[in-house]
Amino acid sequence: MRDFITVAIDGAAASGKTSTALRIADKYKFLAASTGSYYRAITLKMMAANISSDNVSGMQHFLGEIVLETKIIGNISNITIDGKSFEEKELRTQQVNKNVASYATIPAVRQRLLSYQRSQISEARTNGFRGLIMEGRDITSVILPDADLRFFLEASAQERLFRRENDWEHDYIAERDKIDVGRTIRQDGVHKIDTDINDLGVVVAMISTEIDEILST
Ligand code: C5P
Repeated sequence: MRDFITVAIDGAAASGKTSTALRIADKYKFLAASTGSYYRAITLKMMAANISSDNVSGMQHFLGEIVLETKIIGNISNITIDGKSFEEKELRTQQVNKNVASYATIPAVRQRLLSYQRSQISEARTNGFRGLIMEGRDITSVILPDADLRFFLEASAQERLFRRENDWEHDYIAERDKIDVGRTIRQDGVHKIDTDINDLGVVVAMISTEIDEILST
């Protein structure tokens, strides 16, 4: 019987990644890591320090100085930067929604978060979780290509826009899609799930079937 498993979830903005990861984490006692929040936290800090996304040297200096740590609340992994943790509402302001994709294209930013994201596996293990479920663009391809299970959630642009509008959130989905497009690509061997036709309960059931199979071997 396996004592620990890793699950990676990829997909575009509002494709259902976060809700799915949280449901699976609750069900299986996994640690949930939503990597969009890491990019959002770095964006917020850089904007507060007046470092624009085209100021590469300012950014490199900033990235070299900051200390990234993890604060686990319940079964959710939260990033801290220089000891500061972030409220959900701070990470989802219009300013952050609008700018996060531009900051996320910077290779130095992605590089700084690479090892941090991978370190979540040991965070999960040392804190007694049975697994890690991590979601975000590039998680199945770059961050955890060797995850035990990898899923790619697909949804039409229209449905994704509708979901965020239902949350009363202007999330610059179309604008972010254009910037994020190269990173949101399904790799071979990754299970595709269409969330236009499968609701959250069905998606969770589909993923659970695969997890149960691994856990029973
Ligand atoms: O998941 P969320 O919509 O909160 O992500 C915000 C932005 O962070 C994305 O639009 C993308 O630009 C960036 N991101 C990324 N790679 C990840 C997670 C998020 O580039 N793994």
